[in-house]
Amino acid sequence: MNAIVLAGRRLALLNRARIYTCGITPYDVTHLGHAATFVWVDTLARVLRRCLRVEPVVCRNVTDVDDVLDSAAMRAGTRSDDFAAFQEFLFEGDMSALHVNRPDHEPWAHRYIGPVIRLAEALLESGAAYERSGTVYFRGADVPARAGVDRATALRLAAEFGGRPGDTDKDDPFDVALWQATEHDHQTWPSPWGQGRPGWHAECVAMALSVLGVGVDVHAGGADLRFPHHAYHAAIAETFTGVVPHTRAWFHVGAVTFGGAKMAKSTGNLVLIADLLAKHPAATVRMMILDRPWHESWDYRPELLDAATDRVRLLHEAAARPGPSESTAVDEVRSLLAADLDVPAALAVADEAGGDAARLLIAVLGLA
Ligand code: ZN
Repeated sequence: MNAIVLAGRRLALLNRARIYTCGITPYDVTHLGHAATFVWVDTLARVLRRCLRVEPVVCRNVTDVDDVLDSAAMRAGTRSDDFAAFQEFLFEGDMSALHVNRPDHEPWAHRYIGPVIRLAEALLESGAAYERSGTVYFRGADVPARAGVDRATALRLAAEFGGRPGDTDKDDPFDVALWQATEHDHQTWPSPWGQGRPGWHAECVAMALSVLGVGVDVHAGGADLRFPHHAYHAAIAETFTGVVPHTRAWFHVGAVTFGGAKMAKSTGNLVLIADLLAKHPAATVRMMILDRPWHESWDYRPELLDAATDRVRLLHEAAARPGPSESTAVDEVRSLLAADLDVPAALAVADEAGGDAARLLIAVLGLA
């Protein structure tokens, strides 16, 4: 096999696959929605290695320069960097408890201030950006259309994700800050345009280009990052490098809701990973996340954990059987996983065949 299908599109690969995952902003505990994204990316990497013999190179950043983080630290009465380090420690504990392999690279945004400044300088020189009162804006008027998002939706999402479409300093509502002039009570750094901090999208572009080089094979993240974050990431990277597309394949993992609503602290419907793992083994939680199409959103219900417990038991029983001596089931499991990570179909084959096919699936799904 020399290709994996993701969201219906075939991605041909040689011996390596560069995966950039938009990681956490370390200001809160890990909930099931975050964890689902990282468990799926971990599984994608395992599928590449075990089914396609392609070595994944995974980069998962930490967005430790962010307004939300600063506000949370201020509320807690601590410094942003101390607060972020502690939240990161908790996150890593959750990821390791969920058998998520450590990424090859885990860049922190605060270490990439220099590359963000260079990126902004280069885009200013080429005319793709302009400076107003110490803030450098990327010209993004065509980004919504390029991303296939209509204007009204784009305006709503830009406002929701801090893009400040109503800012009158900008030439166009869809221009975004590559470098943001910032008041003194936030983390700031000196720049050619005065004290400030990197813009969110520019941070990720600087980290991806610095760590993985030009272009990525797979860009992963939660579905809510599709617009504006990923659309701007691609547009800024493509304008800077001249290489189009920056991203060969997208891996937008479906959202997890609870009671039909997006998980959020404000609505009080967070399902915390630590709480789930206090009562269930990691294999059960992973099975609940993985036994479904990766790109579809789903609603969490506690009964799903009972179903996942049964599913894990069946697979382990199948693995304990010797299995047929001449079997095409192992190849079939590999092919099904390479075809858009079809876990439900792979489970059906592995349960039926038992032996090596079931043992392979246990390893690929991280259930051991
Ligand atoms: Zn990102």
